Amino acid sequence: MSQPFLTTVVGSMPKPAWLMEQVPLNEAGKQVHGKGADWGFSGDLLTDAMDDATRVTLHDQENAGIDIVSDGEQRRTSYLTYITQRLEGFDYETLTKKWTRNKRRLAEVGRCVGPVKRSKPMLSDDLKFMLAETDRPVKITLPGPMTVVDSTADEHYGDEATMAMAVAEALNEEARELDALGAGVIQFDEPVFSRYPDKVKEWGIAALDRCLEGVENSQTAAHICYSYPMPGVPRPIVDSYPVILEALEGSKIDQLALEFEASHLNPELLRLCPSKTVMFGCIDNGTDEIESPDYVATKLLAAAKHLPADQIQAAPDCGLVPLGLPVARAKLKTMVAGAKLAREKL
Ligand code: ZN
Repeated sequence: MSQPFLTTVVGSMPKPAWLMEQVPLNEAGKQVHGKGADWGFSGDLLTDAMDDATRVTLHDQENAGIDIVSDGEQRRTSYLTYITQRLEGFDYETLTKKWTRNKRRLAEVGRCVGPVKRSKPMLSDDLKFMLAETDRPVKITLPGPMTVVDSTADEHYGDEATMAMAVAEALNEEARELDALGAGVIQFDEPVFSRYPDKVKEWGIAALDRCLEGVENSQTAAHICYSYPMPGVPRPIVDSYPVILEALEGSKIDQLALEFEASHLNPELLRLCPSKTVMFGCIDNGTDEIESPDYVATKLLAAAKHLPADQIQAAPDCGLVPLGLPVARAKLKTMVAGAKLAREKL
């Protein structure tokens, strides 16, 4: 797949109103995109509904012309706890409070109370379902080790790097299975990389690389971002990308999903990761305003001044779950039109 400006999504997509209670994003004090919201069904009906919601999002992505599709994380209330709750060693019965994201967000988190282990497959059924429903290459997402460490309270290891390597070992077992099943892209979400550039260098890359051992056929990706827009939570765009990208260039990861749109980061930064394929964020997930194809094409062509176009994919900054479904659909269509335009002008 070396066509310039292939199109893809980062992971999450909005859920249909019938699947889960829709909680507004901008109502201060309320939780956002699913957190605290109830599923619209239970039992077998919920399983059927999740299957159908996945079919809807696959259709939406194919209909928009997206080349590499995802399940939109339709089965997840959280990209992270969907995985951590399935791992051994975590307790989500009694939550605790922890300052996360470099002291930016006081969150209720699960506790790590014993060795982290993967005792059973976590995403293989989800992946098999997708593979049966679409002919396009599919992406599947796992939270990265540093993000798991930051988003849980360690009461067992007493050392972040040690815990991260244990998490990485468990995630690697999962990744190897997803690889064997035929995942096109296995993506590790590491939004917290942007908050801890020093830790990225110290142990973040080593833990990420540990996740990839023995993955032979799937492309591997890391998604770095400044996190979902949330009411009342500061989301400063800090100058950590140069440090992170330099470190990631030395990793074994194939692809990087990076936020360039809302952050207004300079595409010149791509020069720091010349060996990587970059999912170049050119769609903002924090505004309902639909970018124009012209605008997207201009952004992609500007990026192509610093990295070969066949190493650039068009992608939203991050998951589109904070948006309404019609807006997300329109944004995907405009992104595909923009990528096509950019290809023509190349
Ligand atoms: Zn993100």
